[in-house]
Amino acid sequence: MQFIYDFEEGRRTDKALLGGKGANLAEMTHLGLPVPPGFTITTECCMTYLKEETFFDTQLKKQILEAIQRLEEKTNKSFTSRESLLLVSVRSGAKFSMPGMMDTILNLGLNDQRVRGFTRTTSLAFAYDCYRRLLQMYGDVVFGIPKEEFYELLEKKEQALGKPADSFFLNEQEELIALYKQQFIAHQRVFPQDPFEQLFEATKAVFRSWNNQRAKVYRELNHIPYHLGTAVNIQSMVFGNSGNQSGTGVVFTRNPATGEHVLFGEFLLNAQGEDVVAGIRTPEPIADLKEKLPTAYADFVHYAQVLEDHYKDMQDIEFTIENGQLYILQTRDGKRTAKAALTIALDLVTEGVITKETALTRISPEMIDQLIHPIFDEQAIKEARLIATGLPASPGAATGVVVFTADAAKEFHNTGKKVILVRQETSPEDIEGMVVSEAIVTSRGGMTSHAAVVARGMGTCCITGCEALTVDEQNKQVKCGELVLTEGDILSVDGTSGNLFLNEIPTVIAENNDDLQRLLAWADEVAELRVRANAETVLDLTTAMDFGATGIGLARTEHMFFGAERVLEMRRLILADSDQEAQDALDRLVTFQQEDFYQMYQTVQDKPMVIRLLDPPMHEFLPHEPNEIRQLARKLGKSPLVVEEQIRRLQETNPMLGHRGCRLGITTPAIYQMQVCAIFTSIFRLLDEGQTIVPEIMIPLIAEEEELLHVKQFLIETIDALFEEAGIEPISYEIGTMIELPRACLIADDLAQEADFFSFGTNDLTQMTYGFSRDDIGKFINSYTEKKIMKSDPFQHLDQKGVGALIRIAVEKARQTKPGMLIGVCGEVGGDPESIAFFAEIGVDYVSCSPFRIPAARLAVAQAALANKKVPIPVTQ
Ligand code: ADP
Ligand code: MG
Ligand code: MG
Repeated sequence: MQFIYDFEEGRRTDKALLGGKGANLAEMTHLGLPVPPGFTITTECCMTYLKEETFFDTQLKKQILEAIQRLEEKTNKSFTSRESLLLVSVRSGAKFSMPGMMDTILNLGLNDQRVRGFTRTTSLAFAYDCYRRLLQMYGDVVFGIPKEEFYELLEKKEQALGKPADSFFLNEQEELIALYKQQFIAHQRVFPQDPFEQLFEATKAVFRSWNNQRAKVYRELNHIPYHLGTAVNIQSMVFGNSGNQSGTGVVFTRNPATGEHVLFGEFLLNAQGEDVVAGIRTPEPIADLKEKLPTAYADFVHYAQVLEDHYKDMQDIEFTIENGQLYILQTRDGKRTAKAALTIALDLVTEGVITKETALTRISPEMIDQLIHPIFDEQAIKEARLIATGLPASPGAATGVVVFTADAAKEFHNTGKKVILVRQETSPEDIEGMVVSEAIVTSRGGMTSHAAVVARGMGTCCITGCEALTVDEQNKQVKCGELVLTEGDILSVDGTSGNLFLNEIPTVIAENNDDLQRLLAWADEVAELRVRANAETVLDLTTAMDFGATGIGLARTEHMFFGAERVLEMRRLILADSDQEAQDALDRLVTFQQEDFYQMYQTVQDKPMVIRLLDPPMHEFLPHEPNEIRQLARKLGKSPLVVEEQIRRLQETNPMLGHRGCRLGITTPAIYQMQVCAIFTSIFRLLDEGQTIVPEIMIPLIAEEEELLHVKQFLIETIDALFEEAGIEPISYEIGTMIELPRACLIADDLAQEADFFSFGTNDLTQMTYGFSRDDIGKFINSYTEKKIMKSDPFQHLDQKGVGALIRIAVEKARQTKPGMLIGVCGEVGGDPESIAFFAEIGVDYVSCSPFRIPAARLAVAQAALANKKVPIPVTQ
């Protein structure tokens, strides 16, 4: 069994086995890029080791020893001698990139003896800098000794000697190392002098880091399965900290915040590894490298292009320069904001690098949400008090209360507050707090600092390097000039401009931008499913049309009864003592509704619109407070006691299972009659004005074929009479039904005989299938998902196994009866990408969702179509 692959052996397609980092190091080696040689221990070893520790000694060790020997030959260096030192990095790397979540150790192989040997070919300061870093990283990763303890020792020693560590004499360096080793002892640990022991223990620690808290949180957040494991990359070291002809940097081949086509990144001279991302020293923009190290810069520009051409996507590249010589240490598809993702995808199509179809797979539906989400109101911004400006690390607009720690962020968040996490800089330990924050602000760090990278990945608005701020995390305060803010104060963060404001600023929805329209137009070309909207107010209908809805899948008529005037008439109707009183109320309601439908049809123009007849139980329209009941009685000229009694009688034990939907239509046909009357009289006006309309009328909550027949019968009679009365040539219209009861799914073939169309009401269908009340599921769903009893809330993501099976049966049965019948899905899951993929698979005609979810749904239906056509969707690294 081969547990280890040299970089020469792997390819980019081996991500599952070698991890993303390992597979790409192999790919770059293959492409002939200057990658320091090394090898990768597979992800399978990680999982085997985590299950059975003895595997390491009995099987893996031997292959590691052999691989080191090969590395010694390749580099012409030795892992054990005191001359010509082979030092290595031990780097984690899972299939999906988890930046900073697991651990890396650099300069491994140094010990008290070898460091002296090292000084002979390098400088004293440099050799000991490497050794200190090793002790510190090893202590942290292998034994969990906090890094800060070592920083403190270093600082104290520097203070005592009154000079920086790079001016220490040999004996002073050794004293400091002795202190570091003492710190291990203080934790009942010993730093091993044997390079092999270091290597073995470091490898095991990287395996174990797959299980550390921040890796777990990150996996959960990004839906990365546990069973994948991490690979371990052992790579010969190159030294960016060996003088001013050396350095290290991180560069994106395009701007990851805006997508602009320029190299974007930072470097530090005389620095190693994490120095750039850690935000300890402020790095310089990559463009400045051109002057400082022109040859290395030119090489870098060249290789960056090679990598982008090869991967056909924006790359995030880590490099190190050792004495003027450039090395590439990592490449991956760069994480980017939604805006950048869109710009880059469109540009790559224009540049002829990728196809439109591929562009559609480069943006996730979640990213679309970020593109249409709020920005600050321009006018309000002008009046707001700007307190500081930092780097615009991740766009967006957010207001919240200031907190200074991840824990406080969680606490405030749990009490329902929106929080802004303000820190000097963030580190992977802060991840849980960052997740719950509306925005992140750091006083230090650049555009590629931890805060910036993580925030962009999450779509959270973020400002970094806001140097005007002095953040005192311990005393929970931040100073900005004269101004002192403490925990709980309110800030507004504009991640697009990098501006920080005092107090709340109102937000508005971002303009529906041209780039997005272009992408979504391509999406519509490949889509098989159509996207309609759930909307009934003119405002929502307009939004839906603007966002590209192909029609309205659900217009809920009950929403039209909630205005004060209307609800009174509705109440008059429900509580009527005489037919006359009922008729008066109906007459007034019909006038209201006529106007509503007139405006609605005018808004949607020639697009189809499904209007659902009244659905909720009557008592939802009635007051329950004694005060309100008394007022109502007075208005209706009735006795409060009588009204109270009537309301009491209308109350139901299980209203959701009660007297509602078509059941109301059957007991009180006058309501549905009034509704179709309003619909058709409004249509008469519109026909007169030259509009063409094919009305789609939907009857809710059907469980029996006879129910449908009965309601349909009196609706048709009413409609016929209306045409006759108006003396208008009848137009064709459709009467369909909502499928929202399990029984309806099972008899869908019979219902299809009578219905012109179907629309699955997945909210009720889920409620009725699970027996979960959709209004009360919040009380227990978290326990269910935490205890892994259910993966997610079935009202948000369709339960494909159960509810999905019912829908599948219903679609098949309906199509047997009526092959071309129009079938749609309305309900929350109609806008959920994961559920959309399922609906595409079973062949429904459209999904319908709330207006703001339409752009994302349009992309999701396109991606579903591409997946069906087997256009490979690249996995993000
Ligand atoms: P992460 O996945 O957190 O980025 P890496 O494994 O990439 O961790 O390593 C952390 C840092 O160490 C990076 O800046 C990387 O460039 C640097 N590094 C890793 N291996 C080497 C090496 N062989 N020589 C020099 N620097 C290295
Ligand atoms: Mg890295
Ligand atoms: Mg319903």
